[in-house]
Amino acid sequence: MSTDYQSLAVKGVQALSPYQPGKPIDELARELGLNPDRIIKLASNENPLGPSPKALAAVRGGLDELCRYPDGNGFDLKQALSARYGVRPSQITLGNGSNDVLEVITRCFADQTSEVVFSQYAFAVYPLVTQAIGATGVSVPARDYGHDLNAMAEAVTGRTKLVFVANPNNPTGTVHGAEAIEAFLDRIPERVLVVLDEAYCEYLQGDGYVDGLSLLERYPNLIVTRTFSKAWGLASLRAGYSVSSPEIANVLNRVRQPFNVDALALAAATAVLDDEQYLQRAREVNAEGMKQLETAFNEMGLEYIPSAGNFIALNVGERAADINQLLLEQGVIVRPIAGYGMPGHLRVSIGLPEENDRFIESLARALDTLSASEPGRGV
Ligand SMILES: *Cc1c(COP(=O)(O)O)cnc(C)c1O
Repeated sequence: MSTDYQSLAVKGVQALSPYQPGKPIDELARELGLNPDRIIKLASNENPLGPSPKALAAVRGGLDELCRYPDGNGFDLKQALSARYGVRPSQITLGNGSNDVLEVITRCFADQTSEVVFSQYAFAVYPLVTQAIGATGVSVPARDYGHDLNAMAEAVTGRTKLVFVANPNNPTGTVHGAEAIEAFLDRIPERVLVVLDEAYCEYLQGDGYVDGLSLLERYPNLIVTRTFSKAWGLASLRAGYSVSSPEIANVLNRVRQPFNVDALALAAATAVLDDEQYLQRAREVNAEGMKQLETAFNEMGLEYIPSAGNFIALNVGERAADINQLLLEQGVIVRPIAGYGMPGHLRVSIGLPEENDRFIESLARALDTLSASEPGRGV
């Protein structure tokens, strides 16, 4: 008899379905025999500008030292973050992307006896890491696709160790203002840690801006996570971080891998923090692209969830899977989010103006194709 190795995995892992990333361009090219240069990917909320020239120069400058281990303490990057955001280096925990930090936080503070609270439609990594360590995930029904912060506060029990709040949330793009976040934090007992995931905070502008970092002094149980993968344009290099009290950072530091951020990622992230122009441009391109898509959706009579991020969830109802397939055939990759319990929505990342145009045209064509094939319609 051969051993069933799956049954040897710890219980939470046995039932786990892995995170589903956006389809890579080369994979679609292979599957459908398309020219990869003609494919556009609007599926993973990446920065469409390409990497910052400053980040590229830093990476090139680091190549000769690839034989060396990276700085496990990330001294330069912590200094740069400290200077930019006015936090102390001792408050920062670096991660291999912020996903890494989210996982380390969960492993440090929750176990099989714990409950972890998050919202319905929230970022998929929260339930995933919760289940992987065997803790009990408590998914609180969303309100208008966003976090129902009152209900989340009410869901906290004596067993709750962690609450995840994505602000803005992915894949819905919903966001809460400072007042709502503070009122929520006021209701959470100090022994429960709140992770405020600000992966898209750089896109928030004006009155809508919530700065989790400014709340750290008042709420010692708060951990703010951020990333270089989105507005900073370094998704491939894997750099993210959390800011918390030094005491919490000290705990996280015990569990994180000693060299979890590689030298090129450290160098690029440090350099890009200096590239204000790049960030500004990223914000502009995003704001314009968002308008471009909203205008098109309005004209086409399509419903969407207003988004504060660099993506937008479009409601196409029962046709979503078919439309996705028709988009893929035209070389346009977006993200179906049925896995989030939103089978009628497609999430589209904001691209360059010409990419957005191409998506809109392909979408119109897909809708035409489907309505022509509907029984009783067309010729
Ligand atoms: C993209 C994203 C992250 C960051 O992922 P990285 O591991 O830093 O690339 C974290 N949280 C949310 C909500 C995201 O959408």
